[in-house]
Amino acid sequence: MALRHALALDPIPADDPRSDFSGTIRSFDPADPIVRIGDLSAQRGDGVFESLGMVGRHAQEVSAHLERLTRSATLCDLPEPNLAQWREAIARIVVHAPGAGESVLKLILSRGIDGEETPTAWLTLADAPDNTAARRDGIRVATLDRGFASDMPSRAPWLLLGAKTLSYAVNMAAIREARRRGADDAVFVSSDGYVLEGPTASVILRQGGRYLTPEPAAGILHGTTQRSIFHHLRSAGAEVAYASITRDELLSAEAAWVVSSIRLAAPIVAIDGEEKERDTAVTASLNNYLLSPRD
Ligand code: PLP
Repeated sequence: MALRHALALDPIPADDPRSDFSGTIRSFDPADPIVRIGDLSAQRGDGVFESLGMVGRHAQEVSAHLERLTRSATLCDLPEPNLAQWREAIARIVVHAPGAGESVLKLILSRGIDGEETPTAWLTLADAPDNTAARRDGIRVATLDRGFASDMPSRAPWLLLGAKTLSYAVNMAAIREARRRGADDAVFVSSDGYVLEGPTASVILRQGGRYLTPEPAAGILHGTTQRSIFHHLRSAGAEVAYASITRDELLSAEAAWVVSSIRLAAPIVAIDGEEKERDTAVTASLNNYLLSPRD
């Protein structure tokens, strides 16, 4: 992804009442080094992040992403972000996006330099990859064992399962394994047989006319796109619910999607090599909605 712009942010405390953030946010050339070698994000993946979709110069669902950034920071014992400061940084970076088309805005909050106990943070703006084919033609998924049962988050909260941490090596390894199996992407299944999420996306299916998604408490990231889609479907009169979903229920669903902020809604067209019907009309209407400005 070609980076268009970058900002460094010196995080101030969440309860700092200032409204003038000058001196705490500065532009830098994305080609320049900005992260010091001792930064724990680079050394240990010790930090949290958010990826927001942008349509033209509008960043989608800023409040939902900032809320999740705060939740991830809290789960990781990082200082709570000052949301007014982050909003100001977002306002300063979005103007560098092209007036039309899609971009990716990343917010990154690291534990900072080893031994200094001062978090570091930065934002980047990049052109979005072309996701037309995934949205239109769908993707093939392989189900992969996540290696833990669905009660793991309550038994081992230190695994940070509900936080969007920078440690995505496992998620990327899962996508590579899915590709080795002839698929485009993975869907994780818990060791007790429940569908969880993709390595970078939430799962939604439709059964008996109802739209279902796995319970966030089962050790997954609560997706902003899934929440936005549920809100949209509910306002259109559809029934939506969080549920425990087995792999067999995913296989037999009327239709299923993986949904996320950048790729948006991609219909699942095959699961472990078994072809699946896709609902072209609903997919197109979901993506139309997701591409409209959302706050
Ligand atoms: N689950 C995981 C593990 C993710 O990494 C992501 C997005 O990156 C999602 C779900 C979907 O979240 P969102 O819709 O907020 O992009």
